[in-house]
Amino acid sequence: MSSLLQVQSLAKAFGGNKVLEDVSFDIAAGEIVGLLGPNGSGKSTLLNTVTGFERIDRGSITLEGRRIDALSAYRIVESGLGRTFQLPSMPTKMSVMEVAMAAATQHHGFWETLLNTVGARAAEKAARDKAAALLDELLLSHVKDLPASGLSGGQKKLLGIVCALMGDPRLLMLDEPTAGVHPNLRNDIVQVLRRLNHKGMTVVIVEHDMHFIREVCTRCIVLDRGHIVASCRPDELSSNERVLQAYLGGGHAP
Ligand code: ADP
Ligand code: MG
Repeated sequence: MSSLLQVQSLAKAFGGNKVLEDVSFDIAAGEIVGLLGPNGSGKSTLLNTVTGFERIDRGSITLEGRRIDALSAYRIVESGLGRTFQLPSMPTKMSVMEVAMAAATQHHGFWETLLNTVGARAAEKAARDKAAALLDELLLSHVKDLPASGLSGGQKKLLGIVCALMGDPRLLMLDEPTAGVHPNLRNDIVQVLRRLNHKGMTVVIVEHDMHFIREVCTRCIVLDRGHIVASCRPDELSSNERVLQAYLGGGHAP
C-alpha cells in the first residue's frame, strides 16, 4: 500500500506545555486507523496540526508526497484532507441542508470548476444534489430542513462528516465520532465508515470505544503524553503492556 500521509518528528508545545514530542507515523492508502490515548494525550492537537488549525514547532507533515505543514487549513482541505471536530458547533439559523451546501463553498476547486463550466445556477444545483446524496448516505435526509443547531449530538457528528465529504477528501480524520452518540447511531456510523472505506477512503479516527475500534479499524496508534507508544493491530491491543499502562495512567480501561 502506498503512503498517503507521513508525519515525521512532529513537535508542538503550548507555552511550556509540550503536548506532542517527536511524533512520527505513516498512514497508507486504504487504512482505517484508530488513534487512541487518555484524555489530554494530544490526540486532538495532532489532528489540529495535521489539518492546519495549529502550526507545528518542529517536524514535517506530507500528504501524497507534498509538504502541507506550512499550508492554511483551507489549502489543506483543497489538498484532499477532510476532518470533523470533537465538539461540532452548528449555526443556529441554518438548516441541515444549508450547512451541508455551505461546506461546498470551502472547496474552492469544486465551485471554480462548476462556475466556469456551467454557471452559478447550475453550480448551486450541483452542490444541492451532492449535499442531498451525502445527507441520504449519512441518514440525515429526514432532518434536512430542520435547524442544524437542533440536531442531537450524534446527528451533528454525522453532519460534520457530510461537510467533510463535500470536499471529496482522500483522507478523512474524525475526532471522537461516536462519543455521546446513541448506540443505534453508533452502528450507523460503523456502517457508513465501512462503506466509505470500501469506496477507497482512508480514515483516521480518534476513538475511546475499544469495541468500535475492533469492529472498524485495521490498525491502531496509541498516544500517551504526546508520544506514540504503540502502533499495532486492534487484536494486539490487550496484550500490549505499554498500551495498558497508557490507559491505566490516564484513568481509562482499554
Ligand atoms: P486529547 O484530544 O488527547 O484529549 P488535546 O490534544 O485536546 O488532548 O490536549 C492535549 C493538551 O494540550 C492538554 O493539556 C490541553 O490542555 C493542551 N491544549 C490543547 N489545545 C490547546 C490550546 N489551543 N492552547 C493551549 N493548550 C492546549
Ligand atoms: Mg480530544
